Amino acid sequence: MLSQRVRQLEPSPIFALDAKVKQIQAAGVPVISFCVGEPDFDTPESIRQAAIGAINEGFTHYTATPGILPLREAIAQKLQKENNINYSPAEIVVGTGSKQILYNAFQTLCDQGDEALIQTPIWSPYIEQIKLANAVPALMPLQPPFKLKASDIEARISSRTKVVLLNSPSNPTGAMIDASELEKIARLAVSRNIYIISDEIYEKITFGAKHISIASLGEDIKKLTVTINGFSKAYAMTGWRVGYGAGPKEIISAMSALQGQVTSNTCSISQKAAFAAISGDQSPVEAMRSEFEKRRQFVVGQLSQVKGLLVVPPEGAFYAFVGVESLLTPQCPTSQAWCARLLDEARVAVVPGEAFFAPGYFRLSFAASMRNMEEGISRIKAYLK
Ligand code: PLP
Repeated sequence: MLSQRVRQLEPSPIFALDAKVKQIQAAGVPVISFCVGEPDFDTPESIRQAAIGAINEGFTHYTATPGILPLREAIAQKLQKENNINYSPAEIVVGTGSKQILYNAFQTLCDQGDEALIQTPIWSPYIEQIKLANAVPALMPLQPPFKLKASDIEARISSRTKVVLLNSPSNPTGAMIDASELEKIARLAVSRNIYIISDEIYEKITFGAKHISIASLGEDIKKLTVTINGFSKAYAMTGWRVGYGAGPKEIISAMSALQGQVTSNTCSISQKAAFAAISGDQSPVEAMRSEFEKRRQFVVGQLSQVKGLLVVPPEGAFYAFVGVESLLTPQCPTSQAWCARLLDEARVAVVPGEAFFAPGYFRLSFAASMRNMEEGISRIKAYLK
């Protein structure tokens, strides 16, 4: 018998859908997929060259578990310069994607029965990771425009609340937390002595409002915050598996000790690539962001014209989270069924809201070429006519 822990694990619905779409495509059916959550750009050339250099120089051995010092120093500089937070390299741990760092943070902060507050719609791995830490995900369901407020947290807080997860800009809605609310959330967390795990992976992909790190709002909140970020989205480095966490030394050392017993350091070559990414020319980041902005405009403009679809313009990330509630019928009663039909009949794949604990919606990733978006959206329009 498998352990209770893995038996209760929900497999990633997005990976499952993506596998199904690939299977259909392999059978020759021209499906257009808007499922994936990764930039469709190649990793910039200078980053790739740094990795090739690392291989050729024989930089292929174990490194320190929390990552090579030059990389942690460069991350510390970035956090100081861009996010206005002072961390020393000893307060930074680099791991196998921000996903592993998130897992380590929940394992480090949560005990049996602790509650972790989390907004929905939300990226599902957080929920599974909270459960793997024997904690309880306490959901805060948000309505359009899906912007988390301090009052949402206050309404859900209990004596068992240990941590609040923030994800701004958010996957899947692209919503950001307003600066004034972030201030209130910080005050609330400090007054109730609650930890914050702040996943800032989409910070560089924004379309107006500037991202603010909660840990920059004062020493008191910094002491309670683990700031998490990574290279996957900003630098188109999903496959390289580099993410990091920054926070109080005691927490970061514990996360590093945990990682030391599980994976040790992330790939040495990827660390050199990440160092090149963070310390080199940043213009590819802006080039990708501005391309995402064009696509966002296209998607929002096009889908807003379609009767029955509820489109909330995303403030960041590369997803549109679209409501289909008014299109549901007794024959097609859920967004899951609606998305399955869209795939079967229009050959367009989007992720149903159920995958984000938010039925009645779908997520369309605009990390796809303009050509595919034009074709895919015209198929959606034709299907709904
Ligand atoms: N956080 C969010 C909100 C994400 O959407 C993702 C990936 O889709 C991650 C974290 C994980 O990123 P990685 O592990 O590649 O750094």
